[in-house]
Amino acid sequence: MSPILISACLLGQPVRYNGKDAATGHALLAQWQREGRVVGLCPEMAGGLPTPRPAAEITQGSGGTKVLLGLARVVIADGSDVSPSFVAGAQQALAVVQAKGIKVAVLKEGSPSCGSAYTYDGSFNGGRTALPGVTAALLLQNGVAVFSEHQLDEAQAFLQALAQA
Ligand code: SF4
Repeated sequence: MSPILISACLLGQPVRYNGKDAATGHALLAQWQREGRVVGLCPEMAGGLPTPRPAAEITQGSGGTKVLLGLARVVIADGSDVSPSFVAGAQQALAVVQAKGIKVAVLKEGSPSCGSAYTYDGSFNGGRTALPGVTAALLLQNGVAVFSEHQLDEAQAFLQALAQA
């Protein structure tokens, strides 16, 4: 059965910026874990950031693709640039995916690393932009199907279709 990359915080690991987890308690995650298919990773910690750490956002609603191109930055509220750690974490995630032949990822929505449908827009006022985070963008560029914790049933349907292909 295909392995699945999953944001470590969704698996209950307390690795979020605020030192908390984001466990969903969804039955599919437990099933995938029982099946031994889950590869957990926190890109921000893989990129060398500590937990807890300051909240970060991508500047000017630019999304992760522009960060990867060097056309936007990931910053914390005082303006400090943390882009290199976010890019390094994305590269670590890609290395894991390529080493293990992973085709599907379930990543935490809204995160500047893991968000897929949206990320926060750099205003630190709760504004959103419909662009992925840095890790999600890099995985999408490399052919990985990225789902959020709100799309676990869709991810399962995709995995079943892959298995039948
Ligand atoms: Fe969770 Fe991803 Fe943030 Fe790590 S980088 S805490 S895995 S959302």
